Amino acid sequence: MANNAITKRDVDFAKWYTDVVKASHLAAYSNVKGCIIMEPNGYAIWEKMVQTIDKMLKETSHKNVAMPLLIPENLMNKESELINGFAPEVAWVTDGGSNKLEERMCIRPTSETLFSDYYSSVVRSYRDLPLKYNQWCSVVRWEKETRPFLRSREFWWQEGHTIHETKEEAEAETRFIMEHVYKRFFHEFLAIPAITGRKTEKEKFAGAEYTLTIEALMYNGVALQSGTSHYFGQKFSKAYDIEFTNRENKQEFAYQTSWGVSSRMIGALIMVHSDDDGLVLPPNIAPNQVVIIPIGTDKDVIDLTNKINTLLKDSGITSYIDNKETSPGFKFAEAEVNGIPVRIEVGIRDLDNNLLTLVRRDTKEKIQVSKDADIVVEVKKMFSLIQTNLYNKAKARMESMTYTATNLEEVERIMNTNPGFIKADWCGSEECELKMKEIKGTKARCILESHQPITGKCAICGKESKEVVAWGIQY
Ligand SMILES: [Zn+2]
Repeated sequence: MANNAITKRDVDFAKWYTDVVKASHLAAYSNVKGCIIMEPNGYAIWEKMVQTIDKMLKETSHKNVAMPLLIPENLMNKESELINGFAPEVAWVTDGGSNKLEERMCIRPTSETLFSDYYSSVVRSYRDLPLKYNQWCSVVRWEKETRPFLRSREFWWQEGHTIHETKEEAEAETRFIMEHVYKRFFHEFLAIPAITGRKTEKEKFAGAEYTLTIEALMYNGVALQSGTSHYFGQKFSKAYDIEFTNRENKQEFAYQTSWGVSSRMIGALIMVHSDDDGLVLPPNIAPNQVVIIPIGTDKDVIDLTNKINTLLKDSGITSYIDNKETSPGFKFAEAEVNGIPVRIEVGIRDLDNNLLTLVRRDTKEKIQVSKDADIVVEVKKMFSLIQTNLYNKAKARMESMTYTATNLEEVERIMNTNPGFIKADWCGSEECELKMKEIKGTKARCILESHQPITGKCAICGKESKEVVAWGIQY
């Protein structure tokens, strides 16, 4: 049934997006300009993301720490590229109580400076390395235009900061996080296929030697940078004086990385999977995986809903009974808008026929199973079908919206009709990137690694080129 509170996705994508955020109670606008309130449904998804990624990080010997929220200006200024990169969007604290501060402090836009300052005081020898630290926190960037989850002045994330004795080890870490943590998380949990590669010099993180990125394609063909992993080489170590005694007993600057994913991933979940009836969540990331809805108040119905709930919970599935005093139709619609992957309907008429009804959120398909069937097995089977279907659907869409182009006219035609990722050869010049940007703001999403050139000639200037870039319009 159509949800009247939600604008049709194909009519107005931007409006549809904010309607889903509101109707599914993921976030509310606050009176703090540019900042959102994550409501229980939104925060529960974020918590599930945190738990899942945190487990992956701990399994690979990363440890959590907490750094200060404020960064003194002189500390921030030590790495000039970083401060230049962030200067326009840094918020400053100038007063403490009624006193002007001697030195203003910024609210962290990211914490490279604090980690580096700390590492300079604890890293002495190769025996102290590596240190693989991470923190879960919120950061502030003074954005001008904001959208719930996609861009807000304060957002939640994890920032990993590691320090190593060799270049090889730090580079391996940069890649490991991208390929084995982020990409895996996107595929296996969010059911979002994505491309990974290296950012161009123009698009890389300020202060990084290079940046690896994971880029996902939204339903409307717009690309979302969904996570980044940076290799710093010795840049920060030199700026913050992090020297250690290496195995040859010589002084050497250490090698660093940093990497992060944020609450923006909730925006990706909406824009990749959700529909005109609200949120659609893959079972592997849904905080509530099953809702059991009793139809009527017969004792048999109530007993069976309780029994099913216990069986599911005991097997590790997150389920709940919707006992509210509203009509079943209202409960069905609420389960739909909130994206609960599976709904189980228990009604007296079905029970008389020995049946239960299971409904998938992704396809709305209903199946009936015997009330004596192994409900845990049936539900898990459905989870697996939903998870696979969502991934395959998103993958087919991404593939159908991934084009190759050999000149600017082709790029223009594609971006004006049915945008998506465009693979095109690129000579490596910033001038060509700027020319591309004139077409609806198209930017280099990433340089595709180990990708054969398409023609060997830059699609923009025609000069010889070795690299293939995936271009896209960005959020
Ligand atoms: Zn060129």
